[in-house]
Amino acid sequence: MVLYSPQQLYYDGRHQDAAVPNYFPVTNPSNATDLVIVHSASRADIDAAIKSAQNAFPLWSRTPPVQRARILLRAAELLRERNESFARVETHDTGKPFSETSTVDVLSGADVLEYYAGLVASGGLNGETARLRDDAWVYTTKEALGVCVGIGAWNYPIQIALWKSAPCLAAGNTMVYKPSEYTPLHGHLLASLYTEAGMPPGVFNVVHGAGDVGAYLTSHPTVAKVSFTGQVSTGQKVAASAAGRLKYVTMELGGKSPLIVLPDAGVEDAVNGAMMANFYSTGQVCTNGTRVFVPEDMKVEFQRVLLEKLRYVRMGDLMDPNTNFGPLVSKVHYDKVMGYIKHGIEVDGATLLYGGLDKPSVLKDMKNGFWIQPTVFTDCSDEMKIVKEEIFGPVMSILTYKTIDEVVERANNTPMGLAAGVFTRDINQAHAVTAKLQAGITWINTWGESPAEMSVGGWKMSGMGVENGRRGLEAWVRNKSTLVENGGSVASVFCKL
Ligand code: NAD
Repeated sequence: MVLYSPQQLYYDGRHQDAAVPNYFPVTNPSNATDLVIVHSASRADIDAAIKSAQNAFPLWSRTPPVQRARILLRAAELLRERNESFARVETHDTGKPFSETSTVDVLSGADVLEYYAGLVASGGLNGETARLRDDAWVYTTKEALGVCVGIGAWNYPIQIALWKSAPCLAAGNTMVYKPSEYTPLHGHLLASLYTEAGMPPGVFNVVHGAGDVGAYLTSHPTVAKVSFTGQVSTGQKVAASAAGRLKYVTMELGGKSPLIVLPDAGVEDAVNGAMMANFYSTGQVCTNGTRVFVPEDMKVEFQRVLLEKLRYVRMGDLMDPNTNFGPLVSKVHYDKVMGYIKHGIEVDGATLLYGGLDKPSVLKDMKNGFWIQPTVFTDCSDEMKIVKEEIFGPVMSILTYKTIDEVVERANNTPMGLAAGVFTRDINQAHAVTAKLQAGITWINTWGESPAEMSVGGWKMSGMGVENGRRGLEAWVRNKSTLVENGGSVASVFCKL
């Protein structure tokens, strides 16, 4: 059953048909039925959307920050009012349980709108002044960049769209946004909502399509900045393309994050943290702590408690408030994750503690969906493929260690550096270990919370730049420094013979 009407493009403040009829289907992950068909943007459509953003830029960038903030706050208010209906759409699109989408996905986006509205309205875009001498000073201004592009991944669709557009628009830029082709439904909802909140036409635009659309957007000469969320390999292509014209970039990429349980940690807490870090959103979270390091002599107890708690993973009707585990997002991704599990068993030779390749039993009408069991491997070693590569599914690897120096070194022994975390009752030890971890996001005795106030971004191959927090605004402005001479005469070495 096709649940939604065809998704058009959105620019000049309204829905637009694609210039050349070209559609792609989107599948409901829970039962593999068609959910919607989507207009794919041609180059002419993308040019039109970029033109729309370019036309809107002069007025929007000159609009006083406090007025822009009012529109963002109205948008946040509308999002909160419509949380349940938007969350339902996200559940259909992504396969994430409504218990998640209705409490995190939409609301964490609204939080970020409110945060940046507050920040720019209260002077967050102010520059600095410096007195050089009595008759000269320097002042700086933060200027919007121009037309910016946002390209999203499929795992947190509306949240990603809001985390990019909120600071971008608050700073006075305009945006052309491309959702992932797997989860595009939020695009038109958000664009219409911004228009309803009072955003002038062209300030926020949406084009749909796959990698070719993203690539054209990235290389477009009018575009000043690209903010990208996705895989490391795609991010490398996007950054390389943007570098051709020295565009600003923000790269939010993948990870293979270590979760370290120190010897004094409470096992119950550590297991709760490890489960959130591996099975929330069916493991499709960039910051997942999939390399779980436990002290050698804690392994048996850790695994006992983990097996007990795995009973609390509940699959089923995604709208049931009790359901806390959904399917994977697509057939392509299902095949990829299953391939890793097979590799873990057959090639890596890790011990399968739980889950594996068998399809879980789910409701009858959902048996064709991309459902998978939460899976735990133990007796893992650092060189196994399942331990080295991002799987982006509910697959935990348990590794043991002897000393803290050893575990820190092994935790850092990866080309990625998105997140890391430590569980311990010793707060001094927690800070000491955290200080040595090579990651842009670290957690102590918790996992996964990413509030609007917290700047987040990866180190090493996991990204460039940050989103959210005060530093997140700086990514959408450029600096202008002006030196003013008030002395009454222009100093020159060329005044006399
Ligand atoms: P992906 O790289 O396959 O696709 C991401 C987006 O890029 C999609 O919109 C896609 O259409 C587009 N794209 C593909 N080829 C392109 C090209 N050549 N030029 C421009 N755009 C192109 O990633 P995905 O599978 O959608 O998302 C999963 C990945 O995203 C995981 O690696 C995950 O860790 C990462 N992720 C990172 C963060 C973060 O904040 N660091 C957040 C969410 C997801």
